[in-house]
Amino acid sequence: MHELGICDALLKMVQGIMKDEQLERVDKITVEVGSLSGVVPSFLSDCWVAVADGTELQETEFVIEELAGTAKCLDCGVEFTADLNDLSCPSCRGKKLMPLTGRDLTLKEILAP
Ligand SMILES: [Zn+2]
Repeated sequence: MHELGICDALLKMVQGIMKDEQLERVDKITVEVGSLSGVVPSFLSDCWVAVADGTELQETEFVIEELAGTAKCLDCGVEFTADLNDLSCPSCRGKKLMPLTGRDLTLKEILAP
């Protein structure tokens, strides 16, 4: 499960920022997850709870914002919001798609008291 690796990296990133900014605690972390990133938000929350357990971040609220990804059809050139349940072009039903946005997972915000 790569969500675990992602959470581990996020935890280290936040801890690094806390050290740099000399923060003793963080109230809330917001992570933006693109719908084409392959990351399952519910798994991500579960993994966060697991990796943050026993650290200074275990009480921190973990918020995931989902960002709808967009893709482009290579057959007809139309750009559309990608629906993971129906990955085909809404215009020509083509299957040759190129993801444009929504493949990233970013640490959007850290809220300190
Ligand atoms: Zn098309």
